[in-house]
Amino acid sequence: MISALVIDGDQILCEKTATDWLPFGLNIPASSDDHKLSVMESEEAVNSEGFISLHPTDHGQNQAKNLKAQSSDRISAAVSLDYLRARHLTVPKSASFIPFRKLIMSLPTAYYQDLSAAMQLLRWQAHTRFCSRCAAALTPHPSERALLCANCKLTHYPRIQPCVITVVTRANPQTGVTQILLAHHHRYGKPDTDPQYGLIAGFVEVGESLEQAVQREINEEVGLAVSNIRYLGSQQWPYPSNLMAAFQAEFDSGDICVELAELSHADFFDITDLPKIPSKGSIAFEIIQQVIEQDRHSV
Ligand SMILES: [Zn+2]
Repeated sequence: MISALVIDGDQILCEKTATDWLPFGLNIPASSDDHKLSVMESEEAVNSEGFISLHPTDHGQNQAKNLKAQSSDRISAAVSLDYLRARHLTVPKSASFIPFRKLIMSLPTAYYQDLSAAMQLLRWQAHTRFCSRCAAALTPHPSERALLCANCKLTHYPRIQPCVITVVTRANPQTGVTQILLAHHHRYGKPDTDPQYGLIAGFVEVGESLEQAVQREINEEVGLAVSNIRYLGSQQWPYPSNLMAAFQAEFDSGDICVELAELSHADFFDITDLPKIPSKGSIAFEIIQQVIEQDRHSV
C-alpha cells in the first residue's frame, strides 16, 4: 500500500481531529503501475492520469511527520477522486472533502506548499492531454515532472502564471495615520453591510518587469501613480496556478478613479480602522500585517 492525499478540484480529503479538519494519506494499493513508475523511475514523475508522485519540500518533510498516514508509509502521492472511483476505491465514511481556502487559515506553511502543489499538478495534468504543437496525445515524461509528446518530442512542463499584488501606503492627509489602499472587487459580491476588501493585484503581461506590472495594475484599476516599489515576498496560489509576487509601494500622485469593470469601490483606509480584509493564509493578509508591524516599530 502507499499513502496518498485525495484531491477533488480545490478540496482535500480530511478527517476530523480534536480541534480541526486535517488532510491525511489514504492507503491505496501499491500494485498499480503508477506506484512502480514513481518509485523506479523518478520521484518527480507525472504518472497516469489522476496520480501525482509527491516529494515534499525539505521543510515539508519535517511537517509531513504530523500529516497522518493510514499506514507507516509517508505520504508519497496525491490522487484525484476520479482516480479512486475508476478503481472502485472508496473513502472512509468519517472523512470529508474540505476546501483548500478553508484549510489554509490553520495549516502550517509546509502543508500549504505540498497541498497547493498537488492540487495544481493534478489540475494541470487533467487539462494537458494533447500536444499544443502537433495535437498528438501526451504521455508521462520518463524522468521529469512533465508530459512528453511521443510524436514530435516536445516536453510540456507545468505552467505557473506570475502575478503582482501590492500594498500601497500613504499618510492620512488630515491626521498623518498610515493608510493602505484597498479595493472592493465585484467577485466579493455586493458591497453591503460588511464588505470584503482586498489589495490591487493582477497578472504580469508579456514583456513587463514585476515593477512595471505593479505600476500598470494600480494605474489601470484605480488611476494612481506609485513610487518606491519594494519587494516583500511571494506565495504560490493555486487558483488556478499563480505565483504571487508581493510589493509595497508609496502613493505618489493622482485621484482614485475606479475601473468599474473589476471594482465597485476603492479608497485609502487607516490601518487602525480597516474593513474586512482577506483571511489568514493569503499573502494579502500577510503583507497587510507587515505594514501594520512596520508602522508599530516606526512610532
Ligand atoms: Zn507534439
